[in-house]
Amino acid sequence: MNFQWYPGHMTKAKRQMQEDMKLIDLVIELVDARIPLSSRNPDIDDLGKNKYRLILMNKSDLADRKQTEAWSSYFRSRGFFVVCLDARSKNGMKNVTDVIMEACKEKMERDRKRGIKNRPVRAMVVGIPNVGKSTFINSYAGKACAKTGNKPGVTKGKQWIRLNKNVELLDTPGILWPKFEDQMVGLRLALIGSIKDEILNTDELAIELIHILTGMYPGVLKDRYGVDEEQKDTDILCEIAEKRNCLSKGNELDYSKAATLLIDEFRSGKLGKITLEIVK
Ligand code: GDP
Repeated sequence: MNFQWYPGHMTKAKRQMQEDMKLIDLVIELVDARIPLSSRNPDIDDLGKNKYRLILMNKSDLADRKQTEAWSSYFRSRGFFVVCLDARSKNGMKNVTDVIMEACKEKMERDRKRGIKNRPVRAMVVGIPNVGKSTFINSYAGKACAKTGNKPGVTKGKQWIRLNKNVELLDTPGILWPKFEDQMVGLRLALIGSIKDEILNTDELAIELIHILTGMYPGVLKDRYGVDEEQKDTDILCEIAEKRNCLSKGNELDYSKAATLLIDEFRSGKLGKITLEIVK
């Protein structure tokens, strides 16, 4: 397997982001709370150096609360501001503005001292595909906020969404590509459904998920499917197929159906709040 390709559209997106970075004070980076590191591309640390940094741990409705707290401390100790969020239900949204103001306090203070008035803090949302950028921008900025349109000195076509009298947000998010530093990162990204399931076939992905869950969250599969967890991962999948009556047309057990079911139920939170990556 070789994930190290870097097609032209990614290079272009990166260049675009470098340009956009010149316009902003604050980078709002979304990560997936279930895999806070694997859903980041560390290139952003370089692209966003000298900027204020806010990490939104999104989809925290699906993640293990204790782990989400541990990851929040991890990022805070590295100089990031952090807010835990469920962009879909808007949980945590109230905090975002406060934390943005807090993150940019220094700049606003500096502007004030220099007598610069009415220069809003400018922010941009970035993150890998499917992490919830559009959902966040829509529900955060929503319809209530008027778009301010092009401004002198700003790249043509850019729209700023005025969030309040102090903050403006670039209306288009910057897309970061996930970085497949090792096989586990690719696996975790595939498990949360943020890359196409082509890294592994569904059966393999389900076996890997079973392996991870029985190790990190013993009892979860037993509770959900009534299976014996003290057997080989492949046998657990067979038992899930039996217990859930996953049958093919010829009335034989259909493991692929069971695999798809398991992965779907994991992704939609039916197995509970689960984080696949532990703070080291
Ligand atoms: P983008 O590619 O980063 O812009 O991601 P989208 O905003 O299109 O969201 C991808 C999917 O994740 C959509 O199906 C959203 O409904 C879902 N989603 C976004 N935020 C959350 C969240 O906080 N919790 C849950 N459970 N789903 C979310």
